Parts: sequence; structure tokens; C-alpha cells
Amino acid sequence: MNSGEYWNPVLETLPREKLQQLQLKKFKSILKWAYENSPFYRSLYKGAGLEPGDIKTLDDITKVPKTEKAMLREAQGKEPYPYGSILSVPIEQVTEYRQTSGTTGQPVYHPETWQDWDWSAESWAYALYAQGYRDYDRVFLPFGYSVNIAFWAGHYAAEKIGCEVVPGGVLDTEARILKMKELKATALMATPTYILGMADTARKKLGLDPAKDLNIKKITAAGEPGACIPATKKRMEEMWGAKVYDQIGATEIGHWGFECQAQAGLHILEAFHLVEIEDIETGATITEPGKKGSMVITTFDRFAHPCIRFDSKDVIEWNPVEKCECGRTFRRLKGGVVGRADDITKVKGVLLAPTAIEEVVRSIPELGDEYEVTVTKKGDIDDITLKMEIAPDFKGNIEAVEPKLVQQLRLKTGLRYNLEFHDYGTLPRYGVKAKRFKDLRHKE
Ligand SMILES: [Zn+2]
Repeated sequence: MNSGEYWNPVLETLPREKLQQLQLKKFKSILKWAYENSPFYRSLYKGAGLEPGDIKTLDDITKVPKTEKAMLREAQGKEPYPYGSILSVPIEQVTEYRQTSGTTGQPVYHPETWQDWDWSAESWAYALYAQGYRDYDRVFLPFGYSVNIAFWAGHYAAEKIGCEVVPGGVLDTEARILKMKELKATALMATPTYILGMADTARKKLGLDPAKDLNIKKITAAGEPGACIPATKKRMEEMWGAKVYDQIGATEIGHWGFECQAQAGLHILEAFHLVEIEDIETGATITEPGKKGSMVITTFDRFAHPCIRFDSKDVIEWNPVEKCECGRTFRRLKGGVVGRADDITKVKGVLLAPTAIEEVVRSIPELGDEYEVTVTKKGDIDDITLKMEIAPDFKGNIEAVEPKLVQQLRLKTGLRYNLEFHDYGTLPRYGVKAKRFKDLRHKE
């Protein structure tokens, strides 16, 4: 199983025409699988009058109805519990449970069979190999190893390549840094916020300069934008004295994009996925560089929970230069994922929907309706302040509601806030459209 080689010249340098033939074949195969095995997909397609046999060319795929997160959530929480009607294999075959980080309340559950999980690790292995991971690397993973997917597949992928993997799970940041130093770890995977935060901790708390005192040569940055923002990437590379590579995936989709050693845009893993870019206003397919649009993505060869024409709302753009110096013909995106089609934003690596905060604030009777959220950078770490008003008729001690508030915010948004209570009527009021969410991170 472990060949240690993840440079596949047949697959990764296919001429476009051949690659598209492969993609069409794989698209038809997953569509047929979903139609035959998932009540959710069968009913979606029957409702649209679509039979899998109707898809004959890649141009036909726009006939296939799109899916989105809300539909997945709606179909879940039912039998076969908790995955519901999307599940396309007998539940006995499910070996992995994962979930999305759950921004607006309910997370999306994600099942994988052992075969699917191997696919997930395989797709990461192609990316890590393209970033220079080899069997002599000692890879440190400083993440929580919890119910969220995070870097789980990265762990297995590094093992597949033959690297030695060090799981830095429950250690705190200082202990993780010391362990990397002790073991002379050569590679690291983390979110950009944490990559910068760790360097900050190393310097301030331990008196260590990561670029000089640690042995990290390459860093895979995923989970939020950062490595695709040139100034942030430069900063991370300078702090660590290492190459930093952008990588992207999502729980429902799997890992779909990576930067290679040429660091010239994000390659789409086209042998594993089909990416379409849609015009945000008209919905028309964008095939040429020069215009940003919203991503619609299909995942091939992952069978327990098919992801077909999923409207991910990631804003992306084709790279103007077709050929990459690494030799791979997988198409690239210009500058990675440049934003979100809706208002959801990432704070501390967690997707945050302002509506989730509103839901909490307004569920607490001691508080007024107005609130304001400000996200700034404290050093390199995101810092969130939530200002609220005390309800006009409330006369008690407002601090008494704090524990309930903290707990609800943690539950609904997964984040901690600096809480400020203001007198009623002192926060700004808005007429038609409120601007209660202020993201000041990129404006300083
Ligand atoms: Zn490349």
C-alpha cells in the first residue's frame, strides 16, 4: 500500500482533453451511484426529471441540480442516524465520523467508509508530495484531534508517503514548540493563525527564534486564508525560515486544492474533483481567467456521502497561465480562495456567521437588541469583542448573565469573546441595513 511515491506522471500530466474524459467518466459514475443508493439524491434528481443517463458530455452537467449545506443539514438527524437519506452505503460500512465546525447551530455530519477514508488520505498525499514531503521528513501536527476533520487526513497522508508523524494533540503551544525542537521536526501543518501564533509564543514565552532554533523546512497551511495572501505568507515564511504552502478542503467536499513547490497558484486536484466556477450574479459558467465566481464542486470516488455539484460559496478565479513549472497539468486558481459568496467569515480558523451571534444575544432577555462585533488582530491572533446593551428595564447585576452568554456563544459559534456591556441606547442604530459586524483585520 505504502509506495512512498505520490508523483503520478500518467495522472498528473494528462493533456486536458484526456483529463476531461476521465472527469466525465468519474462524474457519471458517482452520479449513478448516488441515484441508485441515496434516497436524498434520487428524490432530488427525480424532482428535476433527471436520469443519470442524461449526462453525456461535460456540458450536460449543469442540468444536474446543485446541492448546498442547508440541504445536507435538513436531510440529517434522521435514520440511518445521524446521517439520514444522503447515506449511500449500509451504515455498518461507516468507519469514520467527522463533522463540520457548525457555524449557524447544527453541524453537518460526515460519514466515511474505510475506502473513502483511504481516498481522503490519498488525495492529501498527492498534495504533500507536491510540496516536497518525503519519507525522511518528521512531520509535527499541532491540532486538536477532535470531531472536526482539521488535519486528520494530513496525518494519514504523511504516513502514506512514509514520513514519521508526531501527533501533537493535547499538548499546549509551548509544549508543542519544545517537542518540535527536541525531535528536530522538519515539517508542520496548521492554520495560518496558529502558525503565526506559535512563532509569537516561541519568541515571547520561550526566547526561541523558530527560523534559527527549530528545524522546520516546510509548512502546510490550511483551514483559513493566509497562505494565499502574499503578505501573510511572507511573514510566516520569514518567521519560520520555511516554505509555506496553501492547501484547501472542506468536510463535505474533501481536500481539493494545493499549492506545489512552484508556489504559483492553487492546483485543483482534478483527478479527484470537478470544479466549476459560476458567475455570482448570473449563474453562468466561467471558463476563462479574469473573472471571479463562486465554486461548484463534485467529489469523485467517495461513496458513503456523495458530494455532487455542491455550491461551496468559495470565491475563486482561474489562473491565467495554463502550464505550471512543476509539470502538473491540473488547473490552477489565481490566489487560492479569495473570499466567500455569503457573509460568513473565518475567525480563529472557525467559520463565523454574524447571524449566530445575533441569535445568542437576542435569546437573552437581560440584553437589548443592539450589539456590535469587532474582529481585530492582537499580535497575529484574531481578537473578537462583542459589545452589547443592557435591556432598558433590567435593574439587576448584568455580570450574572455572563456565564450563560459565554456558554451559548461557545456552543453556537465555537469562539470566545471579550464581552462589553453598555448602557441602553449607547450603541449605533441602523435603519435599513445594519453593520454590526466589523472585520478590521485586513485594514490595519
Ligand atoms: Zn505546480
